[in-house]
Amino acid sequence: MEQRIDGKAIAEEVMVEVKSLSARLISDTGVVPGLAVVIIGEDPASQVYVASKGKRARECGFHSVQHTLSDDTNQQALLAIIDDLNNDPAIHGILVQLPLPSHIDEGKVIQAINPDKDVDGFHYINVGKLTSGELGTAFVPCTPAGSMILLQRTLGRDLSGLNAVVVGRSNIVGKPVASLLLAANCTVTIAHSRTKNLDEVCRTADILVAAVGRPKLIKGDWIKPGATIIDVGVNRIPAPERGEGKTRLVGDVDYDEAVERAAHITPVPGGVGPMTIALLMANTLSAAYRSAGLEAPKL
Ligand code: NDP
Repeated sequence: MEQRIDGKAIAEEVMVEVKSLSARLISDTGVVPGLAVVIIGEDPASQVYVASKGKRARECGFHSVQHTLSDDTNQQALLAIIDDLNNDPAIHGILVQLPLPSHIDEGKVIQAINPDKDVDGFHYINVGKLTSGELGTAFVPCTPAGSMILLQRTLGRDLSGLNAVVVGRSNIVGKPVASLLLAANCTVTIAHSRTKNLDEVCRTADILVAAVGRPKLIKGDWIKPGATIIDVGVNRIPAPERGEGKTRLVGDVDYDEAVERAAHITPVPGGVGPMTIALLMANTLSAAYRSAGLEAPKL
């Protein structure tokens, strides 16, 4: 049995579905899904993410818009752009690339986005819908939604009764992934930096989701034999074996150890990462379907 969950391949499957559903929406209704990405500043990593979001959007046949603002853009100017995008009928999804410069109140900016266009799923309305189980109309943050697709395409749609442990409780990953697992009828434990005996807690997991940001925190003997592991962590560590000053990416789980016990495990890179952009496209597609008065397609 293939143990490695191929996030790249599954993300491509999602992209194929999104492209075909986008083409169907355009031919049936004339509505072209529109995604606007707003970025402030010159951070090279953020520039790369934003460029690939635009490229993926165009591949899906979407109308794609990018607003690149200088580092010294003030909050009022940013809010004015969001207001324009909220009122632009050609735009169905708005994404503000985080983090924002420190002179801008990130919370205020996120809450200014029309919840019906909040494809990142960070607006309180969408957070509330997710925790209330209103999944039919919520926007779910992309990384947690992508993690669930990896689980369901590996284990099947019915995760009922499985013990799920989520390590990490951030608003971006840990909490929403825990809400999704609960909605999928798992028995969910959320662990964090104050959790006692984390190794023992992890050993109870049929499904273990690691979203911590600590390289190889989770060891092989913390894994229940036969567990499924979703490693969200992305950590850059020195890799002197590749040459002086070189680095490589690793997850929060010690992959080489964990693979000895897990039934299924996502690699880093190539696991959860590719799903995040695919789910951004899926969320934009859902926003466009809903704007046309149609139910969002289920992936
Ligand atoms: P945060 O830093 O916001 O949250 C980290 C969480 O881990 C916190 O809840 C913290 O606990 C917990 N934690 C920290 N140290 C420990 C420890 N020693 N034991 C147990 N729990 C601990 O991170 P994010 O959720 O934003 O991101 C997590 C990881 O996922 C990062 O590596 C990030 O790069 C990656 N990521 C990957 C994405 C992708 O697309 N693949 C997208 C988003 C994130 P406490 O709350 O008590 O402080």
